[in-house]
Amino acid sequence: MQCPYCTGDSSVTETRVTVDGMRRRRVCNVCKRRFTTYERLGAPGLKVAKRDGSVEAFDGDKLFSALRRVAAHRNTVSDDDLRRLARDIEATLVDSGRKSIAWSDIVTLALSRLENVDPVSAQRLAANYTDETGAIRFDRSAAQQPSPQLGLPLNEPED
Ligand SMILES: [Zn+2]
Repeated sequence: MQCPYCTGDSSVTETRVTVDGMRRRRVCNVCKRRFTTYERLGAPGLKVAKRDGSVEAFDGDKLFSALRRVAAHRNTVSDDDLRRLARDIEATLVDSGRKSIAWSDIVTLALSRLENVDPVSAQRLAANYTDETGAIRFDRSAAQQPSPQLGLPLNEPED
């Protein structure tokens, strides 16, 4: 990102994830001034490789709604927790500098975080999760046994 003072290149010294997005502290490589930027997440250019081989743009809102679905009826988990979790995952992906990431890696990141927030939701995510596009499938046999009583989505036909 360009320095607002001298338009030189800047480096990130710290990234904080907030409910509204990411706050980055930066230092200009040229004039050494410090400044802070606020970014709404949107991970430009970050692609997700789906199990079926297709690729789509990373969508933080989709990740959030996915997390929300596995945490449905869990009153120990607030939407803010999940939003923060989704953004933290997004920030991790952005910071990794990768241009493409497998959905299963995102689920893995989500699992490790969700386990700390709510182990029951983490188990649901691990056991059976299918998003609108059928992107996430850990275990086909588990996915074929929808558990609506647990608040899990019913399987939709694959496209
Ligand atoms: Zn500068």
